[in-house]
Order: sequence, then C-alpha cells, then structure tokens
Amino acid sequence: MTATTTAGRQIATPLSGKALAAEIRRRTTERVTALAAAGTITKLVVVTATDDESSIWYVRSIAKAAAAVGIDCDIADLGPTASPSHIRHTLRDLSQDPTVHGIILQTPLPSGVQLSDLAGDIAPAKDVDGANPASLGRCAAGQPGFAPATAEAVLELLDHHAVELEGRHVAIVGRSIVVGTPVALLLLDRRATVTVCHSRTTALESHTSRADIVVVAVGKPGLVSAGHVAPGAVVIDVGTTPSENGGLLGDVDVAEVERVAGALTPVPGGVGPVTTALLLSHTADAAER
Ligand code: NAP
Repeated sequence: MTATTTAGRQIATPLSGKALAAEIRRRTTERVTALAAAGTITKLVVVTATDDESSIWYVRSIAKAAAAVGIDCDIADLGPTASPSHIRHTLRDLSQDPTVHGIILQTPLPSGVQLSDLAGDIAPAKDVDGANPASLGRCAAGQPGFAPATAEAVLELLDHHAVELEGRHVAIVGRSIVVGTPVALLLLDRRATVTVCHSRTTALESHTSRADIVVVAVGKPGLVSAGHVAPGAVVIDVGTTPSENGGLLGDVDVAEVERVAGALTPVPGGVGPVTTALLLSHTADAAER
C-alpha cells in the first residue's frame, strides 16, 4: 500500500476504523428498529466477574454503544469472587431466556478461571463474540456462526480499505483463541498465506519483515518496530494496553513503523470501534434468527 506524504516526508496511510464502525452501527440501527416494529426488543447481556478498571470501562462503552443503536444491554455483574459454577449457571440461564439474543462473557475472569472453561455454556446461537469453542470450530470449517468480533473486525477493516488478501503473505503475531488464531482461520478462508508467531517464535522479525500484511495482537507496547516491517507493508495493530495518562497504547512503535509501512491502523480508532460495532451487528443477527 502506498504511504502518504505529509510535510515532505512519507508516512504510513492511517487505516481508521471510525467510518466503517459508523456504517455498521447505522445498518444495525435500521435492523433493530425493524425488529422492534415487529415486536422484538433486541437484547444483549454482558456477564462480568471482575473489578478490573479497564474492563469495567470497556463494558460500559459497549452498553452505551448498544443503547445508541436501540439494543437493550444489561450488565450482569457477578463480582470478582464469583465461582465458576455461578458464572456457568448464569450463562446457561441466559442461553435459555428467549428475551436474550446475545451473550458476552467479559474477561478477565476470577483468578484461575479461563474463558475457554466456561464459554461452552453460551448457546452458539447467542455467542455474539464467538467465545464458545463450537463457534471457533465452525469458523475453522467455514460454516455459519459467530467469529470472535475482534478477529472479524481485522478482516472487515482490511476489506474496507481495499487491501487484497488472496495470495498475500500475512504474519500474525499472537495466537490467542480470541484474536490471533481466529484471524489466521479467517485469512486462510480468504486464501492468504499465513504465518502465526507467538512468544516462543525465534527471530520474530525474520517472519514479519517478509510479510505483505502484519497483524499484531499481543498486548506489549512497542513490540513491533521498524525492523519488523517490510517497506510498504500493511500493519494492523490490535493491541490495547492502558497507558499511564489514561489513554491506550497499541503494540506498534508508531514513530518508527509509520516511516516504513505503507499503511497502519491507529490505536485507538482502528480495530477497536469496528469490534464494538460488530458485537452489536451480531446481536441483531441473533435476534433476526
Ligand atoms: P493474550 O491472550 O494474552 O495473547 C497474547 C499472545 O501474544 C499470545 O499468543 C502470546 O504467545 C503472544 N506473545 C506474547 N509475548 C510475545 C512476544 N514477545 N512475541 C510474540 N508473541 C508474543 O492476548 P489477546 O487476548 O489475544 O489480546 C492481545 C492484545 O489485543 C491485547 O492488548 C488486548 O487488549 C488486545 N485486544 C484488543 C481488542 C480490540 O477490540 N481492539 C480485542 C481483544 C484484544 P503465547 O501464546 O506463546 O503465550
């Protein structure tokens, strides 16, 4: 992708997610309004079991975004000491409740409890953030189902900015079940050639610097610097680490990488707003079914 020239120097074109997110929210509002006219109030429930400040802030931002498109959003706060069986029963009850269309189990969970231990109790039809292992299996098999919203947001953002995927080499840094692995599966489905890197990958830059597209989802600010990126490559920064001044930091050293890459997503304002918009759009999908 071609870099932008600003004040006589080349910098990576910013791949904003804001316009795409606004368009997804606009379409979701129309669909939720039509559902309400037909007698269905679209409802999302976010289950939390944490006192982590940034997680609480994120859940409130989902509830606010849901309200803005006409989705009724409840936060089921089970508290940071909730037991796995309490969380499990809550997910089962919500899965059975015909007035609830979408369920999100927010991380982090209480110490020692993994998302993958409990997400199997979210009914796949209501699993709007693709957390149930069955949803990931469907994603791998190219079958209908909800992919994790962040992974889908990466693909939506690349499509929105007309980045070709077929036959291109994509290096993904991070192999989590919620981001890195489903991004790899979705890209394979689009016939990209995919390399997945992780904490045990040796000489990370030898993989990333050969890629046409680099997707970074680690949670370590500054991990990816100029030497990790080929000239003109597209870089998608999924990382979001709270900074000391109350902002958010991505995984990319922006000052370095923007001099080399052709295009780069901003943090905040790149993958994040598209992820939130897709959670709402998935909830409308679930209500329509
Ligand atoms: P995670 O579960 O902690 O996974 C991090 C991954 O990074 C792991 O696969 C880990 O490897 C790998 N890793 C750690 N250190 C590394 C290193 N030095 N070099 C290469 N790989 C390394 O995190 P996550 O849930 O995927 O989230 C990743 C980031 O994305 C976080 O900043 C999170 O806040 C952000 N995020 C953003 C959104 C959004 O909407 N924008 C949504 C979800 C997450 P191992 O597997 O070998 O341990």
